[in-house]
Amino acid sequence: MTSAACPPELTQADPISPELLRRYDVAGPRYTSYPTADRFVEAFGEADYLQALEQRRDGLAAKAYPLSLYVHIPFCESLCYYCACNKIITKHHERGEEYLRYLTREVELTVNHMGAGQSVSQLHLGGGSPTFLSDNELNALMAMLRRSFTLVPGGEYSVEIDPRTVTRERLANLAQQGFNRLSFGVQDFEPAVQKAVHRIQPAEQVFDLVAVSRELGFDSVNVDLIYGLPMQTPETFERTLDQVVKLRPDRIALYAYAHLPERFKPQRRIHTVDLPPAASKLTMLSSAMRVLMAAGYVYVGMDHFALPTDALAVAKRQGRLHRNFQGYSTQPDCDLVALGVSSIGRVGATFSQNVKTLDEYYDLLNQGRLPVQRGMALSRDDLVRRAVIMALMCQGSVLFESIELSHLIDFKTYFASELEALTAMQEQGLLTLDDAGIHVTELGWFFVRGVAMVFDKYIQTDRTRAKFSKII
Ligand code: SF4
Repeated sequence: MTSAACPPELTQADPISPELLRRYDVAGPRYTSYPTADRFVEAFGEADYLQALEQRRDGLAAKAYPLSLYVHIPFCESLCYYCACNKIITKHHERGEEYLRYLTREVELTVNHMGAGQSVSQLHLGGGSPTFLSDNELNALMAMLRRSFTLVPGGEYSVEIDPRTVTRERLANLAQQGFNRLSFGVQDFEPAVQKAVHRIQPAEQVFDLVAVSRELGFDSVNVDLIYGLPMQTPETFERTLDQVVKLRPDRIALYAYAHLPERFKPQRRIHTVDLPPAASKLTMLSSAMRVLMAAGYVYVGMDHFALPTDALAVAKRQGRLHRNFQGYSTQPDCDLVALGVSSIGRVGATFSQNVKTLDEYYDLLNQGRLPVQRGMALSRDDLVRRAVIMALMCQGSVLFESIELSHLIDFKTYFASELEALTAMQEQGLLTLDDAGIHVTELGWFFVRGVAMVFDKYIQTDRTRAKFSKII
């Protein structure tokens, strides 16, 4: 990572037109990791992961850097038709208890190899729906994690909230358990859209819960929105945006819906004729940027907006943004231990992903094995490119000297063809190139993953972009 300047900040009221979006909107990865998860291989397995855990335990990292933990809870009570997550739809809540027993086993095995009591400064419960678990189960999960790890004061402890599954009391319990950040899945406030995606949650319910979250003193409240859903039009989405502005969450994640029914079965229930045309989607994105920035939000980057007072916006201003599998983060680039079915982690210079079905997950844990399905040990070239891509995604600039010193290369020789490829982007006003480095412009910040893709060796060699969503 470079110690670069802050990412550029867009301040214009209407910063980007549908025409510009159309011109630069090509498919590309979100770079929550480099290499991206589709590059993981099954040749990397449990033995490699164990080695990475033990190396961490025996090296300086365990003492010097706190961990990040991700826990995947796969269950949901009902199916949202746009869903592309790894989840299990069930009304049988007793399945949560069984899952927790196996999670406990996975934690015990992990800790046996990496040492007990390691400091954790970031914890994220995702899914599925973590709030599928009862309060007692969530409390048992947190007690189990606290027995195995040390959750340090002042850390970021976040949980995804399905508003349909929580009450004031449940939020109070989460606060008591030490969570200080909530992320509400909203997607859209329009009743017709909610009906079309099979996710009915009245706006009043979300407003009440966010108000309660404020009373309870949560440090940050995030709201997820999706544009491009069935029955959405630029007019209906503008109404949703107006309500979001009134709700005033600290952070907003705004994702484009990618309709891939051949890959994601639930999406087959969405009628193609109900989907907004591409031109309307671009208008919705353009409106979102205009409305949110006019309301005082800062465009943090890659689908994320935040109030200027939020830690993410502050980190952006100070050039301290980082990126991990959950998106942007204020925490330094620390090892991420991922727990639960299908979860993805990074320890040292390795990535690993757990098996994707509960049967396999339970079976391997019954055998006393960690349920790693695939992963990757990063090569020296991967590490250099990762540093460049993360610097672009987080700081919006790459200082050649910084990469040269930390990776012992001559930047201009090593990346001669990439620098050549960037000249076209320079002409289009997306970046500037000088002797010191690459600097993404205000305009280019919206298309930063297109800039990053130039340094992605895997994409450049086999150009399988079609499987990724559009850049913005
Ligand atoms: S979108 Fe979220 S809540 Fe809905 S089915 Fe998928 S994981 Fe569950």
